[in-house]
Order: sequence, then C-alpha cells, then structure tokens
Amino acid sequence: MLNTNRLSQDKDELRGILHAINSNRFSGIECQLDLMFAGSMFEHSCEPNCFAGNWRRHASQPRLYRALRDIEVGEALSISYMQMPDLYLPFTGRAVILSAWGFRCTCPRCTCQPELTRAFVCPACSAPELCPTLPGPDVRELRCQKCEHNAEAAYVTRCLQVESLLERLAEGSEEPAPSNDVDAAGDANLISFYHHAAFRVPWQTMQEGPSVENLSQYAGAIEDIIQCISRLTDAQNPNLLELYHTMATLETGNMESQQHFLELERAVMMHHYPEEVEKQDGEIWSLCQGRGPHTRPENMADTTDLDGMD
Ligand SMILES: [Zn+2]
Ligand SMILES: [Zn+2]
Repeated sequence: MLNTNRLSQDKDELRGILHAINSNRFSGIECQLDLMFAGSMFEHSCEPNCFAGNWRRHASQPRLYRALRDIEVGEALSISYMQMPDLYLPFTGRAVILSAWGFRCTCPRCTCQPELTRAFVCPACSAPELCPTLPGPDVRELRCQKCEHNAEAAYVTRCLQVESLLERLAEGSEEPAPSNDVDAAGDANLISFYHHAAFRVPWQTMQEGPSVENLSQYAGAIEDIIQCISRLTDAQNPNLLELYHTMATLETGNMESQQHFLELERAVMMHHYPEEVEKQDGEIWSLCQGRGPHTRPENMADTTDLDGMD
C-alpha cells in the first residue's frame, strides 16, 4: 500500500533541499552549479563590502572574494546577490527580487539612505538630484542631494504621479497617454537622468549591442550607464571595469577620450586587482624590450588576457 504521508514528507524534504540549493548556489562558468560552504555564508547587501573578485576565472580555479572597502573588525561580510541592472532598482523592486531568497534586506540602502535611483529634477537648482529622503513607496519627502532644498507638497505629487505613470507603462498595465494622466505625461521632464526608469533606456541599448549604424548611440548609452553607476557607488566600482574598457575600445579615433577611459580602467584595476596590473605591466615592459610576453604557468593561461573583455 502506498504510504501517502511518507510521500508528502519526501516531497517536502525535496522541496526544502531544492530551496536550499537555489538560495545558496552561484551560477558558475559553463553552466556548472557552484555550491560552497564559505561562499554561501556571505550575507546579501545592496551596498556590499565584498565582491567575487576572480580575474578571468577558470572553472578549475577557486573563487576569490575581495573587499570593496575597509571593513571594521566584527562587521559582517556581504556581497550582492543581485547584479546590474537589478541592483539599480529602487527599494521596492529590489525587495521583490530578494523575496525569492526569503528575506528582507536591512542594508543602509534599504533602510536609512535616500533613494538615489528615484531621482527627479530639483525645482530650486535644476540638478537631477531630488530624491526621496528614505527608501520605500510611502515616503513623500523629496530633498535635493545637491542644494538640500525640500520640495513642496504639490511638486512632490507631480513627481510621484509621473513616476507611477512610467511604472505602469513599463509593466504594460497602461496604454500610453491615457486622458486622465495627460498632466503626469507632460511632467515627464521632471524625471532625472539618474532615475531607474531613465536608466532602463541606455541599458536596453547596451544589451542590444553595437552595430555599424548605432555605434555613437551605443557609446552614448554606455557613457550614461557609467555616470549612473559611478554616482550610485563610486567611480572605482568593479562593475565599471568592463564598461571603461569598452569605451576605451570604442574611442580609438579620439585619443583624449580613449586616454580618459584607459586611466579610469587602470584606476579600478589598481584598486581591486593590483597583482594583475603588475603582471600586465611586466608583460608590456617585456614586449617593449623586444623579449616577447612572459611565459605563464599552464593553469594561468589566458587569465591575464583582455580578450574576454571586448
Ligand atoms: Zn538592501
Ligand atoms: Zn537642488
């Protein structure tokens, strides 16, 4: 006779195991599933103090984690379970994604900082820096990050209305320009360049990739993304490395601009991958002296190449 109790216990157990795997796995190279003891112990933070810091990791190499900033003794180590562009979402959007792991994030970005990715244009100084003072959908106080002006209630209402209209349009729950939202649609210019709704546009352009026709639009999109991410984190965030590299590649016709992005790229490398910079400098020096590239150990082959970044 079939034991239905046992069967449902087995199902629950299996569901529990799958949930545990799903919550702790790291998507690996070549579709492998990485489960780790130490790696899975990192807390999530939307403003983490560590990141997965392998330089061009091969499947056979262990994962490395590096600090993003100085960490106090006793401070919990954290990484972000989300990547861009999800990490650019405001508190509400991030909370939906994080609920898949079964927790609510209590990092500073989710609890006590202004919502930088819900930015509007300041009516006092015109900077695109008017942001909710705290995270969450119910906050109705907008303060300029630049001039500290507090927006008046009527202006806040206009900002929040146009934001909510854009949200509904993005979800597809509303057709463009409905008659009762004409005023809100007319207020579209209140949305800041840094708002997550505006960020979606260059991100989409970047995802579509470059083509002969859209090369300058593609480069413009990457520059916009760089500006947004630099403001949210800092200009040396490792998320920016590949973007700087791409810009340096695209700007081959403009020496000054190319130099600018190469310097930014090098600054991130120096900060987060100093041993890699040393290795690359050694190779360049060696080439300059006409001695050819260094011979690298077998298991490190390709790990110093920049090819993968193009
Ligand atoms: Zn958070
Ligand atoms: Zn202002």
